[in-house]
Amino acid sequence: MCKTIIISNRLPIKITEEDGNLILKDSEGGLATGLGSIYKQNKNIWIGWPGLDIKTEEEKAKITSKLKDENLFPVFLDEDEIQNYYEGFSNEVLWPIFHYMSTYAQFEQKYWDYYKAVNEKFRDAILANIQPGDTVWIQDYQLLLLPKLIRDSIQDVSIGFFQHIPFPSFEIFRLIPWREEILKGMLGADLLGFHTYDDVRHFLSSCTRLLQVQGVANKLIKKGREIMVDAFPMGIDAGKYKTLTKCPGVEEIYQEYLKTFNGLKVILSIDRLDYSKGIIQRIEALEMILDRHPEYINKITLYMIVVPSRDSIPQYKELRDEIDKLVGNINARFRTTSWHPIQYFYRSFPIEYLSAIYSRADICLVTPMRDGMNLVSKEYVASRRRSSGVLILSEMAGASKELAEAIIINPNNIGEIYRAILQALEMPEEEQRQRMTALTNTVEKFDIYHWVKIFMDQLDKIKLTQKQNE
Ligand code: UDP
Repeated sequence: MCKTIIISNRLPIKITEEDGNLILKDSEGGLATGLGSIYKQNKNIWIGWPGLDIKTEEEKAKITSKLKDENLFPVFLDEDEIQNYYEGFSNEVLWPIFHYMSTYAQFEQKYWDYYKAVNEKFRDAILANIQPGDTVWIQDYQLLLLPKLIRDSIQDVSIGFFQHIPFPSFEIFRLIPWREEILKGMLGADLLGFHTYDDVRHFLSSCTRLLQVQGVANKLIKKGREIMVDAFPMGIDAGKYKTLTKCPGVEEIYQEYLKTFNGLKVILSIDRLDYSKGIIQRIEALEMILDRHPEYINKITLYMIVVPSRDSIPQYKELRDEIDKLVGNINARFRTTSWHPIQYFYRSFPIEYLSAIYSRADICLVTPMRDGMNLVSKEYVASRRRSSGVLILSEMAGASKELAEAIIINPNNIGEIYRAILQALEMPEEEQRQRMTALTNTVEKFDIYHWVKIFMDQLDKIKLTQKQNE
């Protein structure tokens, strides 16, 4: 019987050790949930790094055996590999280039050498598990070389690839010294998916300009093989967020928030610490409101969660210092004895707290300079208890293509963010309801399960067409 192999940099679990016993906890991420409907079935499996630096063979064997019960297979990475393949090439070359922040890129040969070697390591893990007829679905930018590595090693398998971050325009992509090898690696797939049509367009134009491939609409022909490239905007587990709002534990936290923010308009922002997220811009827009509209002093609060991330990379540390400084200045300047304008948290929150604050917030402010999709915007919509609340969303987030009823802004225009916040603060209930109802319909209809299904159906279809053309 044929099986499906999911492969991503990280396995969808967290491993901890208690009294010498290994404890596996499912990751709460949307991708893990959506793909859970696949890898937990039949003989299907998920291959990836378990997220720990395991030193001894004995420990590796113990973890491997524990994971096997859950259909999971580990690829163990050592410190040098993590440093150069993951933090180096993935996060200091691909991440900034793909998010249009080219001046942040560090084109180190050593990073590239490790990136290739680790992609080969993932290939070997697949080859140890794959049979002809199987389907492989590769996730994201850490594994761009993997589609070709698999295709060169085994025939008669279906290979899908999905990129969760943007694909930049050719003029940016061409800056990467190893650009041709990257594209050739990706084109080993039968189906390549991105969040938006713009990403698809950019990818196709890079391929036709840099490689000897023909493009017809959203198909590429390479050595007679048809490769399909398409947009699959990823959804969230909307049902889970709706159910959470009815859960007694969440209700308790929600009631606490109601008490704490009695009479205040709450503006929510939630991101990982990242220069692509436009965190500084939104703080500056808030400062403009307080400066020009003192009537909002004591009336509004920015509840800002920043989840620690990649803080070994200098630009992330600098950003953190800049946020600390800006928040400190604004709070010192505008606070009163009983109120301050920004409640800033540099840590992560359990999902029950996220659900409660999504429900309580009057406005959700999402201002990335670039974002593949942005799930926070969809989670806010899915967590509304009454159909009210206002979403302010950057046009640079993939989500803006679907969530058209949000107030859409250009994050480089601080004045526009400022005006959007004012508009949101004053928006009549009726208009809020109309917009939020439309947004909710979209988020509920195009959820994560829908995303998985349309991608897999499309992959089956393209394989069938390839067979018919043989
Ligand atoms: N998130 C979380 N804990 C927190 C804050 C956020 O797990 O304390 C989650 C949030 O629910 C969302 C994800 O982190 O699912 C962020 O996804 P998004 O697409 O917005 O940005 P990314 O971090 O993937 O660039």
